[in-house]
Amino acid sequence: STRKLPSSACRRVPSAVLQEPAPPVAVPITPPLWTPSSWRTKRALQQPVYPDLEALQRVERQLHNQPSLVASGEMQALEQQLAAACTGDAFVLQGGDCAESFDESAHGLKSTLAALFKMAVVLMWGGKKHVVKIGRLAGQYGKPRSNDFETRDGVSLPSYRGENINAAAFTEEARIPDPNRMMRAYHTSAATSNLVRAFAGGGYGDLTRVKEWGMDWSLTTSRGRQYMATAERISEALSFIDTCGLSSKQPIMTSTEVYTSHEAILLPYEQALVRQDPFTDNFYACSGHFLWIGERTRGIDDAHVEFARGISNPIGVKAGPTMKPEELLRLCDVLNPNNTPGRLTVIIRMGADNILQNLPPLIRAVQREGRNVVWVTDSMHGNTFKTESGYKTRSWNRIMAEVKGFFTVHAAEGSIPGGLHFEMTGKEVTECVGGTLQVKSEHLPQRYESLCDPRLNQSQSLEMAFEVAEILRS
Ligand code: PEP
Ligand code: MN
Repeated sequence: STRKLPSSACRRVPSAVLQEPAPPVAVPITPPLWTPSSWRTKRALQQPVYPDLEALQRVERQLHNQPSLVASGEMQALEQQLAAACTGDAFVLQGGDCAESFDESAHGLKSTLAALFKMAVVLMWGGKKHVVKIGRLAGQYGKPRSNDFETRDGVSLPSYRGENINAAAFTEEARIPDPNRMMRAYHTSAATSNLVRAFAGGGYGDLTRVKEWGMDWSLTTSRGRQYMATAERISEALSFIDTCGLSSKQPIMTSTEVYTSHEAILLPYEQALVRQDPFTDNFYACSGHFLWIGERTRGIDDAHVEFARGISNPIGVKAGPTMKPEELLRLCDVLNPNNTPGRLTVIIRMGADNILQNLPPLIRAVQREGRNVVWVTDSMHGNTFKTESGYKTRSWNRIMAEVKGFFTVHAAEGSIPGGLHFEMTGKEVTECVGGTLQVKSEHLPQRYESLCDPRLNQSQSLEMAFEVAEILRS
């Protein structure tokens, strides 16, 4: 194809540069030379301190020899879909666990995918545009922490940092960073992606089975019935297509695409999985399709931004309440120097109380400078609080308030709301309060299974999708 390839500051490093000693006088190169390891010259926040450096290097070498988990062509296809979200011709749905577990069952994964599919159908039906499905899965194993230590009953231990780094159990041993976990993260990502691809392409993503996706879901709720009514109408439309003599059993109907994503936080892991595309010479992080930079590691001169600028995957950056318009523009300069649509997604996580005030200046700066970004709302991370009994939770109403604020601001600014980012699961957990099933704070202990932040359960997620579908329709 003749499509423009993703921008990249990182053409193949000529072997002369690698082999010859540095010239005696430093000559400034613009943009500065990028290599998969150039982040190592920068400040790297949120990295574990491994007690055994030899073990770390051994694992890095092993990982470097593994097959990549994703292909460059898939990432280019995703970038094109995100480019469509930039102009309002598609809508992004990104969702999954806050922190994936190595022990997630196939059933758990299947239910999360089913929940994503259902949300996507509701959004597509309501919004009348293609929905780009991106799972927070097959690699979401590293967590940034606000506190390096966690204290329980007077005992203080290093914080849990995700399955890629240490274990969640509250013991001294579990919390020691172990580089061998990276191999397990890689293999678990491979197994997870495999199942995702199998479900998405092998019949489970079949739109003609849209009613079956709702079968396991409580039909006693009004939203459950609403889902089935929508599914019924979609089925009717499909059978009408068949009646007309056009088959609804086209691959475009019977399979779907789910892209994988995670926060690119553990840089030795990410570096070890960088591969160079032989057709374009561009570098890709092959641990997942879409990688994002978290709110705590987005410093313009820091290692995570350095790493991300050189990979050609579509990337995201979180923007919380402290993000300044100038700072966002500089991130656009560095992360998307060619201003390629779809290359950069800005994931807004302001909190329901801040979004009306803090988002407009960011949008105005981006519009004034003519930058192409996909605006996505992560309405989870700015709305977290602790209950009196100590559970970290979020309220469905506050999450919805931020989603609504996001759309209100875009309508006022004449910009494009590009999509949603949720921490969610297909299981009926009790981690967030609210929703029609009325999870209350006293219910949280019943099924609080998250390894990190509280997720929307299946009903709460689907209710979100219906609310947003209404907004998209209006
Ligand atoms: C997350 O997405 O789980 C996360 C930690 O987000 P943020 O970087 O926005 O706090
Ligand atoms: Mn989280």
